[in-house]
Amino acid sequence: MPNAQVADIVVIGGGMVGLASAIALKDRGLDVVLCDPGESRARTSFGNAGVISRGSIFPMSSPGLWPKLPTYLRNADRGLRLRHAHLARVLPWTLHFLAAARTSAWRRAAKSLLPLTSAAYGEHEQLAARAGTKGLLHRTGWIKLYRDEAAFAGANLERAILAEHGIAMEIIDGADVQALEPALIRRYARAVLLPETGSLQDPGALIEACEGLYSALGGRFVQAVTTRLVPDHEGWTVHHAGGQVHARQVVLAAGAASAEIAKTLGYRFAFAVERGYHRHYALHPNSPPLTRPILDTGAGSILAPMGEGRIRVLSGVELNARHAPPDHLQIEAAAQEAAGTLRLGGPLDNQPWLGSRPSTPDGMPVIGRAPRHQGLIFAFGHGHIGMSTGPITGRIVADIATDRPPSVPIAAFAPDRLLSWPRL
Ligand SMILES: Cc1cc2nc3c(=O)[nH]c(=O)nc-3n(C[C@H](O)[C@H](O)[C@H](O)COP(=O)(O)OP(=O)(O)OC[C@H]3O[C@@H](n4cnc5c(N)ncnc54)[C@H](O)[C@@H]3O)c2cc1C
Repeated sequence: MPNAQVADIVVIGGGMVGLASAIALKDRGLDVVLCDPGESRARTSFGNAGVISRGSIFPMSSPGLWPKLPTYLRNADRGLRLRHAHLARVLPWTLHFLAAARTSAWRRAAKSLLPLTSAAYGEHEQLAARAGTKGLLHRTGWIKLYRDEAAFAGANLERAILAEHGIAMEIIDGADVQALEPALIRRYARAVLLPETGSLQDPGALIEACEGLYSALGGRFVQAVTTRLVPDHEGWTVHHAGGQVHARQVVLAAGAASAEIAKTLGYRFAFAVERGYHRHYALHPNSPPLTRPILDTGAGSILAPMGEGRIRVLSGVELNARHAPPDHLQIEAAAQEAAGTLRLGGPLDNQPWLGSRPSTPDGMPVIGRAPRHQGLIFAFGHGHIGMSTGPITGRIVADIATDRPPSVPIAAFAPDRLLSWPRL
């Protein structure tokens, strides 16, 4: 067969999740082929905020959803922009999302995600040491900012759950917020500092370094889109634009494209993408530096320092089709708000970057063996926390592929939960 390769395992997708999986599989002595088109900016792992927080355990579908629903549906919340017709197109996701908006489900998800987020920083430290990127990773903490007392009180349940799980947190009163982060020019009523949180200065550079590490371990790349997955009695044939790879096992880690690929094998996941944008701005030369990422809850956006006075302004969520044309309204609004928060100059990029968070309605990733096919492992749907929890997911994938008990409990991430209609 022309251009046919043989490997132990093929990983589809070379974002943080796929690369970390490929590296962990090489560490276990497997012969690995990683299949990815190789377009760095097409990866959501390229353009995120780089926040690695133990406290990022809360799904988007929260108990606060119901009272806010009219605001969301009017597109009057800065953090969320939705295309109404699209909600119907992703109906299984929408129904699961609504069903998950309960305190009990929120608490359960937070508890299930905690082992993943707790392992995230340590895993990143190990990866950075091996990939030669220690200089990109800092334990800076991050700050959630509240513009008024009502907004702060609105996050009472969140803080109670964080406290129950022993997540370190400092509440800072209005007058002291600026002392904590002198670059802020806006007045905030309260701030919450999560000191255990780390941040990556340039997520795209880490991904590149991971490619180098994987190569140095003897990992092989196929720079192409996977077009078809065909199971047979010996395992799988993975078809791509330039040929095929035969392997006993396949890992599906194609981020936002994963559910479409799984559908070709008959798996209809409740899945959507939460699009997000970023744009860089220069901090004014006379401004003190921003020392850590900040979440301005009033603007629904994150501002993250990316080195050399560059501030990455990141938008909230746009619920729309993955390939729909970009809509810059939300990032423009975020940039306008950011200009009231920090002393910013003009944009440094010609156009905003657009990425797609692979979203499950219950806020938990899909990690586990496929229910109806041997040798197929799912590792996708990491939503807002895939950059941070990618490396620990890679370790779990390697555990599954080599039949070891997973490093952290994964029962809550089982694929079947999103393959049926929800009980509303
Ligand atoms: C604005 C924004 C801010 C964010 N901030 C944070 C944050 O602070 N912290 C955090 O932890 N997370 C954050 N995230 C989320 C995080 O970026 C994602 O969860 C994570 O990058 C997903 O990684 P992935 O490997 O699953 O997907 P990706 O990085 O998208 O990688 C998937 C890869 O699969 C490839 N692919 C697709 N189809 C195929 C195919 N058919 N064949 C082969 N390859 C294919 C793609 O080209 C891509 O390279 C943020 C996301 C956004 C949008």
